[in-house]
Amino acid sequence: MQPLLSDSPFGAIICKAGNRICSSLTAENPLMGTRFCDLCCSEPGFCGDCCCMLCRKIITLDYDGYSYIRCEATVVDGHICGHVSHLECALRAYMAGTVGGSINLDAEYLCRYCESRTDLVPHALKLLNICTSVASYADIEKILNVGICILRGSQKSSAKELLHRIESINAKLMKGVSIQDAFKKEICVDSTVLPVVNKYQKHLVQTKLQYDQKIKLESLGKSMKEELFIAQPVHQLNAIQLLLGPN
Ligand SMILES: [Zn+2]
Ligand SMILES: [Zn+2]
Ligand SMILES: [Zn+2]
Ligand SMILES: [Zn+2]
Repeated sequence: MQPLLSDSPFGAIICKAGNRICSSLTAENPLMGTRFCDLCCSEPGFCGDCCCMLCRKIITLDYDGYSYIRCEATVVDGHICGHVSHLECALRAYMAGTVGGSINLDAEYLCRYCESRTDLVPHALKLLNICTSVASYADIEKILNVGICILRGSQKSSAKELLHRIESINAKLMKGVSIQDAFKKEICVDSTVLPVVNKYQKHLVQTKLQYDQKIKLESLGKSMKEELFIAQPVHQLNAIQLLLGPN
């Protein structure tokens, strides 16, 4: 007897929601350990792996799934929640981004099913990375806009920094800068420290300490340099320099 391969009239394997590309159907389904849900997932036509909990529509995997967030909180016995929401739906429902009051979110996502909070800063960073391989200005704008919405108003310094970066890229794109140039990593966000950073950059170091050490090492001459490790504390280098005297 032939095994039953299909649930759909078109011969394709589909999930409960009629989705052929649902993650629950892939051989190496990362969500095998997903919880059993007798709430939303018991409803006909709703698939917990691919339907947004908030609007019930199927999520799309466009651009690496930039538009949705999956709750990866462990709920019972090592099983993960796995429910998904469109970020746009979650933002509209005050379940994502920065929300005050009793919800109290800071660049986070609140899962409606298990009420776990997920930090959205890594997701915003993912959005930025996704954009580097997108060729359409309109799509980049759409993706960056989601990033801006989830980071806006946050008190976290990581979120503020990232928001600044995304907004500056966005501004460059609006001015007509090429996508490649707009995404060139900005090393410096504050123009007042620019000359200092440039000085360090020229010497291929990132911090003042590394710069000072490198300059000292250089002044010690080549033979000494080979014996010294760059991370050696400054006071030791000073002692060596005292021994050798200035160049
Ligand atoms: Zn469910
Ligand atoms: Zn599904
Ligand atoms: Zn939705
Ligand atoms: Zn959850």
